[in-house]
Amino acid sequence: MTAESTLERELADWPADRVRRAIAHAESGDVDRALSREERTLFDLCALLSPNAVGRLEDMAREAQRLTRWHFGRTIGMYAPIYISNICGADCTYCGYAVRSGNREKRRTLSESELRQECEALAALGYQSVLLLTGEAPNAVSPGQIADAVSVAREYFPSVAVEVYSLEQEQYEEFCRRGLDGVTIYMETYDRETYGRVHLLGQKKDYLYRLNASERAGRAGVRRLSVGALLGLFDWRVDGFWTALHARYLQRTCWQSSISISFPRLRHVPERFHIPALVTDKELVQLILAARLVLPEVGFNLSTRERPEFRDRLIPLGVTMMSAGSSTRPGGYVTYGEETLEQFEIEDPRSPSEVAAAIRRAGYEPVWKDFDYAFDATSRAEGT
Ligand code: SF4
Repeated sequence: MTAESTLERELADWPADRVRRAIAHAESGDVDRALSREERTLFDLCALLSPNAVGRLEDMAREAQRLTRWHFGRTIGMYAPIYISNICGADCTYCGYAVRSGNREKRRTLSESELRQECEALAALGYQSVLLLTGEAPNAVSPGQIADAVSVAREYFPSVAVEVYSLEQEQYEEFCRRGLDGVTIYMETYDRETYGRVHLLGQKKDYLYRLNASERAGRAGVRRLSVGALLGLFDWRVDGFWTALHARYLQRTCWQSSISISFPRLRHVPERFHIPALVTDKELVQLILAARLVLPEVGFNLSTRERPEFRDRLIPLGVTMMSAGSSTRPGGYVTYGEETLEQFEIEDPRSPSEVAAAIRRAGYEPVWKDFDYAFDATSRAEGT
């Protein structure tokens, strides 16, 4: 029997009905108090997520902007995903890569030379930060092959993160030795029942193994940890609350790592799947603002799943990292173009330079270089 993790206990203290009650009982006065505090509690988060906060979105936006500028300046980091494989043995019902998704397009794993081509193309565009992704198919892409891919990517980029199946601490340690600095693992939904309903095959069915993966990566020395819920699977207010709780937990337990949250929202799904809890633009804005007010030091990532005009509106509201010019197909930049199966359709097809121009128009500076990494490298050289 596995011992209950501390994170599991903290989540158990906040079951869905308790979160829902706290949100439903939050009154306008609670929203005022949450807005006026410097340090905010989980009860403040419930107030900010509540229907009573909807009329205060402008005040929340002002405070979110102030906090983000204070902690991150007027900069937005730029990154691009590189899919190294679209082979997957898991069956997550919402995903285009799922083994039983019904998709018949080509499945591929990039060879080393193909990966190099993709890296070269992105490096030529100015990227210095990439995210390597693969499905859950250790027979097609083993942990050793992921480690090799990290080594290759590090020849081109100072900052390399992975979004792959959950692994053991020792495996993350090996990735770090190869130059990895970030791990992204979305819990998809923290609600166990929903989790069990949408994850039908593969290791990903194991809720706790996935829940504790970010902490294992942090203990392995991964410098950047990113978590998130796939919005649309469950009540966004409750999953948003749990995501913030998870981020806070990691801030405490993996204090050497910087923590960030992503807000992926389900929009295009395989035919067999119906999105059970669609999230509107306004609700997503409320969630991002509430999370920013409670987690002022946490980075917020925004992917090309969202439309260009909506992404541009979110720039001043708390976002700190944006992907651009993304392809969700292995070899999608130069090697195979549109020949291979994509994981999901992107909504923002703009080129990196167009996105960078939009960031500048909003009064922010797109940052291609990872300054933290440069700082860490100096510290290492100085033996600090
Ligand atoms: S979400 Fe990941 S593990 Fe699940 S089917 Fe898609 S690629 Fe595979």
